[in-house]
Amino acid sequence: MSVETLNRQQAILEAANELIATVSMDQRLTYINLAGRRMLGIPVSLNLDLERLHVRDFHPSDSYQLLNEQIFPQVVASCETWEGELELRNLKGEVFPAHLTLVPHTSEAKDEVLWITGIFRDLRRRKEFEAQRRLAMRVFESTIEGIMVTDGRARIQQVNAAFTDITGYQPEEVLGLTPKVLQSKHHDKAFYKAMWDSIAEVDHWKGEVWNRRKDGSVYLQWLSINCVRNELGEIENYISIIHDLSELRAKEAQIQHLAHHDVLTGLGNRHQLNERLNHAVRQAKSQQEELALLLVDLGHIQIINETFGHNWCDKLISEQSKKLRKRVGDADMLVRVGADEFALLVEDYDLVHDITQLANDIKNTLQKPVVIEGKQVALSPSIGVAFFPVDGLDADTLLSNAQAALSEAKNAGRDAFRFFDHKMTEEARNLLNLEQALRTAIEGKGLSLHFQPKVQLIDQQIYGVEALIRWQHPELGSLSPAVFIPLAEESGLIIEIGAWVVEETCRALVRWRDAGLVLPRVAINIAVQQLDNAAFPDWFESLLKHYNLGLDNFELEITETGLMQNELCALDTLSMLKQKGFRIALDDFGTGYSSLSYLRKLPLSTLKIDRSFIQDMGSDDASLSIVKTIVQLAHNLKLDLVAEGVEEEAQALQLLTMGCQQAQGFLYYKPLPEKELVKLLKSL
Ligand code: C2E
Ligand code: MG
Ligand code: MG
Repeated sequence: MSVETLNRQQAILEAANELIATVSMDQRLTYINLAGRRMLGIPVSLNLDLERLHVRDFHPSDSYQLLNEQIFPQVVASCETWEGELELRNLKGEVFPAHLTLVPHTSEAKDEVLWITGIFRDLRRRKEFEAQRRLAMRVFESTIEGIMVTDGRARIQQVNAAFTDITGYQPEEVLGLTPKVLQSKHHDKAFYKAMWDSIAEVDHWKGEVWNRRKDGSVYLQWLSINCVRNELGEIENYISIIHDLSELRAKEAQIQHLAHHDVLTGLGNRHQLNERLNHAVRQAKSQQEELALLLVDLGHIQIINETFGHNWCDKLISEQSKKLRKRVGDADMLVRVGADEFALLVEDYDLVHDITQLANDIKNTLQKPVVIEGKQVALSPSIGVAFFPVDGLDADTLLSNAQAALSEAKNAGRDAFRFFDHKMTEEARNLLNLEQALRTAIEGKGLSLHFQPKVQLIDQQIYGVEALIRWQHPELGSLSPAVFIPLAEESGLIIEIGAWVVEETCRALVRWRDAGLVLPRVAINIAVQQLDNAAFPDWFESLLKHYNLGLDNFELEITETGLMQNELCALDTLSMLKQKGFRIALDDFGTGYSSLSYLRKLPLSTLKIDRSFIQDMGSDDASLSIVKTIVQLAHNLKLDLVAEGVEEEAQALQLLTMGCQQAQGFLYYKPLPEKELVKLLKSL
């Protein structure tokens, strides 16, 4: 062999990527190429003739054992090449897999192995690659998105399990076919052209596509297509990711249904009413048709709820809704808009008379006694009706006017129906104006207090006064609290007004004290809403501190009817007030149907007999007995008693003989402006 050839061979060996080494029969390394030195961490400078390196140094012990005891002896015995995987260990101690080829070199007689060449290929990269591939396969198979891979000519090459789940096709049924097999007839040619144009231009496309399953059913999918290009820019694969939207859409539809329907009755809800009403109004406008909107209130549901419980009441409402549905039929829209309120939109009728008939029918249907689980109730429904276009040109007006008509029907004592009457809005507007004016009055100087003295019947001595609010309306003049207090209660303004009354009373007491008067006890009327606020007692107490006044200067009056309306919150606050030492009077007693046992629970100090009984006492035996009973009752419960509205001497005498000792009324004093009261108190 020429030197040249030898050099060339040497160069080839050194240029190789694999580890190439020769070992002697005593397993010493006699040659190793450059790649091998790199792989095993042997410095290039190391001279193998001087440093003895042994095969043992480059394998973990078990691999070496295998090599030494089996592989080497086998190669030596058979004189044949051996191939397999074996672990190597470099001089840094890193162990890694390698593919090994052992080639024996024999003597000329070929009966003896003289030395051995080993060729090792580092398998680390390949192992990593394989692990990655396995991972990718697992992702491919386990993802819930369907995946379809085609070649550059759109022939399906690979699909995953989710693809089969979604489309119903097994891989072998679609491999080699084009995705056309999945197409439904939902899209036209232009759709697919736009899709392919996008892919050609930007390499991907995504959007919703209707496809067909193997069983023929059509479903909606979210499809995203990406293409994979080779180094030359040619498309090698298209990868389609398919997300089945049918379930999502079903859920959306369900949510949509829930948003528009009432769960209890299955009817539409207020949301649906708004949409349908708007739509109906638009349509009626364009076609010059009429509409009737009926609001139906079942009546007294709150009481039934409290008496029979929510579950029973739910059954009742559902029962009544079925009756309504049956009477109304499917053509007209019926929705439940509140706990016990339904709305009915009638789009197709000839005469207003038909609507009258319908309202009457509904009323009769709903009035019939209902028996559920052995319990029976009879409801007293009310109905309010408004028509398009006469009662309103848009949905909102129509609805609020039907509501006004319904309120009117309820006020008429239920069991009634009312058509909307334009006077109603006028009334409502008046009330609204009044409310506005009242707001201004609270801020300005429109409000004042009058004081009506209360006397001992026996000697007519003044022992206290009641503070009564007055409102000087800029246009309407002096307004009675009987008119504006209910309005204030309804609008919530009573809270501010009530607070003003308390503070103003304190300020008046301070003024009287400064004038050197003996202070009378002042009774203040407290609305039940004021007691909703549990901080009321503390607030009141802090005022007393501020003005340096005592509890004895006050009595708090709360009406019996008010208390019956809001017993729960009020009772707690009342008890707190009583605990602090406030005197509490039950006003207008006899009008609110409170029972004896209830009365005993209340933290009271005084009963005030309602004026109406005192007035009728002379002419009506029943009123007389009521007054007598109340006098006895107060006596038994050890409560103070005041007769309100005493206007005649005879009434005073009668009361005195019954045992009532205190009174308030025009016979003695009318409510007086502060100046006059001060004059009166000074004169005593
Ligand atoms: P009330 O608390 O029962 O007050 C007694 C009402 O009877 C007063 O009417 C008084 O003027 C009237 N009155 C007294 N003696 C006689 C009489 O001999 N004959 C007649 N016909 N009437 C008599 P007023 O001042 O119109 O107050 C009406 C109601 O307004 C009060 O009834 C009370 O419930 C409420 N009210 C008055 N001021 C306030 C207040 O500051 N806050 C609250 N929440 N309500 C108040
Ligand atoms: Mg009062
Ligand atoms: Mg009263």
